[in-house]
Amino acid sequence: MIPLLLALTIAFPRPGQKLPYVERCYMIGAVEPGTTNILVAGEPVAVYRTGAWATLVKVEPGTNVVDVAGSNHWFTVAKKPAARADAAAKPERVYEKLPYAGDAAKEHPAGRERGEITVVIDAGHGGNDTGALSPHRIEEKDANLRMARSVRDELCKRGYRVVMTRDGDKAVGLYDRPKVAHANNADAFISIHHNAPPVDRDPRDRRYSVVYAWNDIGERLGRAVNRRIAAVNAAEGVKNNGVSRANYAVTRNPEIPSCLIEVDFITSPEGEEASWNPVRRRRVAAAIADGIDDWAAGTEPERRL
Ligand SMILES: [Zn+2]
Repeated sequence: MIPLLLALTIAFPRPGQKLPYVERCYMIGAVEPGTTNILVAGEPVAVYRTGAWATLVKVEPGTNVVDVAGSNHWFTVAKKPAARADAAAKPERVYEKLPYAGDAAKEHPAGRERGEITVVIDAGHGGNDTGALSPHRIEEKDANLRMARSVRDELCKRGYRVVMTRDGDKAVGLYDRPKVAHANNADAFISIHHNAPPVDRDPRDRRYSVVYAWNDIGERLGRAVNRRIAAVNAAEGVKNNGVSRANYAVTRNPEIPSCLIEVDFITSPEGEEASWNPVRRRRVAAAIADGIDDWAAGTEPERRL
């Protein structure tokens, strides 16, 4: 409301000027402050005082403002423009049902050949969405993709069927990522990220891995990969923060076991270096693949570590 009043106050309308359509139209007339006997088209209208020199009168759009007692000013208020036909015919939003949505969770693949187990690997961020930045401005999206490719290569070597949500620097919608798992009849979905602390925290000595899952089937997968990553980290002096529950777009998948791995902090100097180190990367990728082996065999830890 305030900007409209200001606009009209600054650009004082000329008598007879057509005012642009607004839901509530205000007329500024040079009536005496305190005047209450103002008629618009013969009807009394409410008066709003904005200062000693002007009074605002509320009128309905489409009203021809006449009979403003005590004032020589009168204005024609523009009529509401006819609604455009295409705006009126706005199509109803159609929601697409994902293949498993609302159905039972996917059956655990115990006993199946690896070639019949599909794992979707999701490299977090991409395109304009860089994710976190390292001290030397390495973008998280690139570190995620390097790690995701290593995990894919390791899983393929072991005979799994692997699908990537992106295999290049490309934007993929957050909600399109779990859809890739649905579209490929996936047995598991793993999102790869690198972490960053909150903006008000010192990033220099903060470094650990953590795994997030949303429901029980996701946590089971998360426990499996976390145990293996924790073992690699322990050997290298990197902390592990275990498995937590988190309601993320990529973990919130009721039917397909899904988890998100923050493999390291890209914001600490050591974490940044690790994201470039191919030896460390292959070790972590092998740990994630070992975790998937454990999960597929049903030998993951029974409780969160
Ligand atoms: Zn991220």
